[in-house]
Amino acid sequence: MPKQREDCLFCSIVREGTYVARADGFVAIKDINPQAEVHLLVIPEHHVDSFREVGEFSAKESKRMLEFVAQTAREVGLSDYRVVVNVGRSAGQTVFHLHWHLLGGREMSERVPSGVATAEADA
Ligand code: 5GP
Ligand code: ZN
Repeated sequence: MPKQREDCLFCSIVREGTYVARADGFVAIKDINPQAEVHLLVIPEHHVDSFREVGEFSAKESKRMLEFVAQTAREVGLSDYRVVVNVGRSAGQTVFHLHWHLLGGREMSERVPSGVATAEADA
């Protein structure tokens, strides 16, 4: 059984949600607040708080997770896309269950990594 947390939004979405795709312990759902024409979230059923804990997955599971991201993109017809993981609050993470943003569709507007302006970068 994958580890779950009662108080976790994505654990309950994994349990009860509507998926775009599901396989091998991973699901893909539509982001509720899309930032691109196509904006999916790939979520492992096993709860880890963030990418920092990715070592809790076996090598085989980690490989499957990455393949599932690529397979989901293929299934929804994306050949060009962006995969983003926000790690920690100051990097923009708001839901503390590891998830991969899969963004695509029309031409992506901003180049990433855009980073943050620093005194050094501005000099
Ligand atoms: P983060 O900011 O943690 O990297 O990404 C969390 C994402 O989850 C955000 O893009 C946000 O729009 C999405 N999100 C938050 N609550 C829900 C929800 O209840 N359902 C779905 N499908 N997405 C959600
Ligand atoms: Zn969770």
